[in-house]
Amino acid sequence: MPGRENHIDVLIAGGGFAGFTLAIALRQALGPTFSVTVADPMLGRSHFDDERASAIVASVRRLFDALGIWEALAGEAQPILDMAVTDSRLDDAMRPTFLTFGGEVEPGEPFAHMIENRFLIGALEAKARALDIDLRASAVKDFSYPPLEREGPPPAGGRDGVDSQSPLRPPRALHARSSPSRGGSGDSVDIELADGGALSARLLVAADGARSLIRERADIAVHGWNYGQSAIVINVSHERPHDGRAIEHFLPAGPFAILPLKGNRSSIVWTENAAEAERLVGLPDDAFHDELERRFKLHLGEITAVSARRVHPLGFFVARSFIADRIALVGDAAHVIHPIAGQGLNMGLKDVAALAEVIVDAARLGLDLGDANVLERYQRWRRFDTMTMGLATDGLNRLFSNRSDVLRFVRDVGLGLVDRVPNLKHFFIREAAGLVGEVPKLMRGESL
Ligand SMILES: Cc1cc2nc3c(=O)[nH]c(=O)nc-3n(C[C@H](O)[C@H](O)[C@H](O)COP(=O)(O)OP(=O)(O)OC[C@H]3O[C@@H](n4cnc5c(N)ncnc54)[C@H](O)[C@@H]3O)c2cc1C
Repeated sequence: MPGRENHIDVLIAGGGFAGFTLAIALRQALGPTFSVTVADPMLGRSHFDDERASAIVASVRRLFDALGIWEALAGEAQPILDMAVTDSRLDDAMRPTFLTFGGEVEPGEPFAHMIENRFLIGALEAKARALDIDLRASAVKDFSYPPLEREGPPPAGGRDGVDSQSPLRPPRALHARSSPSRGGSGDSVDIELADGGALSARLLVAADGARSLIRERADIAVHGWNYGQSAIVINVSHERPHDGRAIEHFLPAGPFAILPLKGNRSSIVWTENAAEAERLVGLPDDAFHDELERRFKLHLGEITAVSARRVHPLGFFVARSFIADRIALVGDAAHVIHPIAGQGLNMGLKDVAALAEVIVDAARLGLDLGDANVLERYQRWRRFDTMTMGLATDGLNRLFSNRSDVLRFVRDVGLGLVDRVPNLKHFFIREAAGLVGEVPKLMRGESL
């Protein structure tokens, strides 16, 4: 059992985008007496994803602004000034544009920016260090609950009749500990780190990514499926400027997105059938370049690869619950969606903004921030919204990633109609920018 000095308020497993952002939001709102620790074995080390770039929508830019992170990012971020959508066969000579979006949510405020992941994670980590947040370069290995004092000695083989030494021992379900009939909840969760450290927290946040160990240990199932598709990601430079235009070519194998980066550079997110993606990235440079150009075309002049080629298998899942006993899931630990609309991280940061608001409200009211009712508020706020966005991106992918000429005709009529109705377009832009529905304070640019 951890010593008194290792009792903290919140332990965040995962120092990725979601984990750092939550730690910063809590520290800024609640000050240094509210103790937050971030544990991640990859702290300060380079990630597989560093060269990739992410589209950050306007509400997330407002969040970063409210947290004082945006000023460190603004110089590296490329505004998306407009967006064009095409729908054609791979070898069509032309890719006619069916839909364009002017990219502002408010005058002078672009609906999204592109930013390379290494800048984003660097700025977040620097801010966390500047705020003196406790950072541990170690993985969370396991967690358990201290015995309740009012209960008698544990039965042989563990409190729940399961071998408590088993690494797969599932924790009790939410409510079981807090139900009055069980005599009230314990007030902490004990966390074991891979480096041998031990901490006790009032709340454990799983920000440990798609393969979340905490989600698994908490016995939370996920609903979802694999697409059998992978995204090839690469950055290119080109001769002519992109003028801040993002282009999404819907091709039969899946979307091919050209997303503007600072300078004459773009980030490509290129979806293919999984086996074909592996074949393509394994091609010699010249052959790979030909395949890239076949899709990119020559509208920006000659293109040159300026980063390594990476392949990401694509899937969709949403966790059956975003909470368990003294546990909350955020970001990819809670949901993974198709990158077709560039929304995965944006959704994860909406989780963070909502959870931060829930925790801060509870702390200011003197409530137990790991209490089931507090966590339920977070779950109600985020789970339905996540399902809606997840299923919408899934539908979009199914509608566009196919070879049917009939469907192509139907969707092109649909795109053409949307293109002609300015109010509808404005609604879609605000929706994509995360400014519709119950928007957390931080994403409105307000402090907590
Ligand atoms: C091809 C592609 C393109 C995308 N483009 C976009 C886009 O344009 N816009 C967008 O919004 N989203 C995009 N996404 C989604 C986005 O990348 C993810 O949603 C985002 O990276 C998730 O962030 P996270 O902090 O939740 O998780 P991660 O970034 O996965 O971070 C998890 C962290 O947890 C740590 N960790 C793991 N296990 C443990 C443990 N046991 N203990 C402690 N720490 C642990 C890891 O080291 C890691 O640092 C894209 C995804 C893909 C695949």
